[in-house]
Amino acid sequence: MLNEEQFRENLAEVVGRIERFCHEFNRSPDEITLLPVTKKWPSEAVRFCQRAGVSRVGENRVQDALGKQQETSGILWELIGHLQSNKANQVIGRFERIQTVDSLKLLGKLQAGAEQKGVKCKILLQVNTGEDPAKFGLLSEQVEAVLEHALASSNLLVEGLMTIAPYAPGEPSVARRAFGRLRELRDRLNEDFKVDMKELSMGMSGDLREAIESGSTMVRVGSALFGERVQ
Ligand SMILES: *Cc1c(COP(=O)(O)O)cnc(C)c1O
Repeated sequence: MLNEEQFRENLAEVVGRIERFCHEFNRSPDEITLLPVTKKWPSEAVRFCQRAGVSRVGENRVQDALGKQQETSGILWELIGHLQSNKANQVIGRFERIQTVDSLKLLGKLQAGAEQKGVKCKILLQVNTGEDPAKFGLLSEQVEAVLEHALASSNLLVEGLMTIAPYAPGEPSVARRAFGRLRELRDRLNEDFKVDMKELSMGMSGDLREAIESGSTMVRVGSALFGERVQ
């Protein structure tokens, strides 16, 4: 793993890129939250973030995140990896937000778990706007039905949408299209359902520019901060 000084340099570089893209696309950096993704790195990576003033991180796997939660404190955890509905109970009260709600079944389990524990659970709906068969997520045409249920679920707070662009290095138009669709979908749903979902979680190390261009409010960044993962 990299050392803390290298992390600080990477963080400054990523923040600088976000600011440049904001300037380029006429947006305010205040509109965009950087979510460091600490998956596959030990809890030391989480502490690096914390000491640099970033106290919210993204994790892919429930078990890994729960382990790191034992070893840290004062962090808001966001689940950004696929969640099987039979594990829904394990995440209630443990994560600030679940970004990967992608089925009615999972939604129902989260509502039941949150109700039982008497808590509210923040969620995003994951949409596969790139229609990538390798990705999880609702198809755009399925989102309405799931949103309707989410809005009727008294222990769930639906704050927006999340997507992962198809992997297409050197073809920024692929990510741009997927991100543009997510934004249009959110705007249309806000209008149709008379709600005000703000969050568009989209953009990673390789497609930050397209994400900010397309209206992202949260970029999830792993390798640009922590280096490439060696498994
Ligand atoms: C790993 C991961 C990221 C971060 O990806 P990088 O390319 O390393 O920045 C973002 N979002 C999700 C859902 C991920 O799984």
